[in-house]
Amino acid sequence: MGHDIVYRDATVYDGTGSPGSVVDVAVDGDRIAEIGSVRGGAEREVDATGLALAPGFIDVHTHDDFAAMLHPDMAFKSIGGVTTCVVGNCGMGAAPRDTAWKQGESFHPGASPPHYDGFAGYFSILDAQPPGVNVVALAGHGTIRLDTMGTESSAPTSRQMSAMRATLAEAVEAGVVGMSTGLVYEPGRHATTEELIELTGELTGTGCLYATHMRDEGVGLLDSVAEALAIGRAADVPVQISHHKANGRTAWGLVQRSLALIDEARADGQVVHADQYPYTAGSTILSAVIGWLEPGTGLGSADLVIASCPEHPVWEGRSIDDIAVELDRDPHAAAAVVLAEEPNTTVVIHSMNEDDVQTVMAHPSTMIGSDGLPTLDSKPHPRLSNTFARVLGHYSRELAVFEMAEAVHRMTGMSAEAFGLVDRGAVREGAFADLVLFDEAVIVDRATYADPLRMPMGISEVVVNGTAVAQGGTHSGARPGRALRRSAP
Ligand SMILES: [Zn+2]
Repeated sequence: MGHDIVYRDATVYDGTGSPGSVVDVAVDGDRIAEIGSVRGGAEREVDATGLALAPGFIDVHTHDDFAAMLHPDMAFKSIGGVTTCVVGNCGMGAAPRDTAWKQGESFHPGASPPHYDGFAGYFSILDAQPPGVNVVALAGHGTIRLDTMGTESSAPTSRQMSAMRATLAEAVEAGVVGMSTGLVYEPGRHATTEELIELTGELTGTGCLYATHMRDEGVGLLDSVAEALAIGRAADVPVQISHHKANGRTAWGLVQRSLALIDEARADGQVVHADQYPYTAGSTILSAVIGWLEPGTGLGSADLVIASCPEHPVWEGRSIDDIAVELDRDPHAAAAVVLAEEPNTTVVIHSMNEDDVQTVMAHPSTMIGSDGLPTLDSKPHPRLSNTFARVLGHYSRELAVFEMAEAVHRMTGMSAEAFGLVDRGAVREGAFADLVLFDEAVIVDRATYADPLRMPMGISEVVVNGTAVAQGGTHSGARPGRALRRSAP
């Protein structure tokens, strides 16, 4: 009896950071059956001579909560090598559903996702209508707070705190891997450190982590890291610092010190990681960053470019500076006009320094996450589909920030361990067959800010749970992904 698939003579990066070695890898059903010199035939033999075979990439920072239902093949992710997405970042989770949709609708104007109850309901929908990638979820503090308290800026009453804890408890029971915060956004920015410590206490002892889009990624970066570490320590849960960066010219260079804070905490035994996307521009909703157009942030109106504006698509791809000239207003007033026209406008923000990006990437606490916003009908940040190929091709091969084996580790084995994903992120006998076959001499990103949906090159085949979903840059339409609930600690 032969195997389902055998990759012959692949250079296998197993996800642990060990150097590649040339072996055969056999897949049976949804698992890796055998690694070594595989005898006998297979239903499908793949000559992988000269190609790298790695665990499928785990995108630990996504906003694909609703995309997993509305664009279920998830081709924009899997063609780029991603086999698992962690959704629910930056305080925006998938449940409670109606509140979550209020926050998520800006990425999917006009769509109508299914209804469900709580995270148990969300996972059931994904079970019944599987996406093309595996989905892991974080509960979102902002969603929970908005659901309980609306946009109140005051501290929660004890009754409101109990209600928020109950909502979070449902998520934990259903199998989320942690809670995220978005402390620059409404309504997360109203939460004090005390509120967050109390709520995060619900995660203690569960194996869940605390992920955070911090309060200030500019000149307040160090205080923000200190706050994240304090919350993790008080609740005794691991900390995941989202999209670690220093935002705005006045903050450039601060990552040296924020990384030192992480080193100190790790030396003290705290579990702390960060994620990063490999670009010097960020992306978010315009309403969250309009204040950056004030003097003193080191950002200018030329640095802010409209990514998606469904009510006024001709503005997509143009800077606030440019629109201000057209409207004959100052940049702040022009941005206000854009927001009045379309409150859900998203932007690309050229706010980072290349040295900082490489310094953060080289640090052992950093794993890779795209933070892509799935606004597929507009001009999303190219990180959405090209993050992993860019890290492998540009930062590892071309710039030698780290070895290929280490680059693969930062997007597979390290990520699976931090998020508690069992038998994922590894090329190992018995592990799930989430695999990416690529040419390490060729792989690189191709998307640009002007043409952001071009898919990366050099990725030959992507397999999820033993089923090929993409070959030669084309998606098969297969949807073998699963909702992955947290395993017992
Ligand atoms: Zn964020």
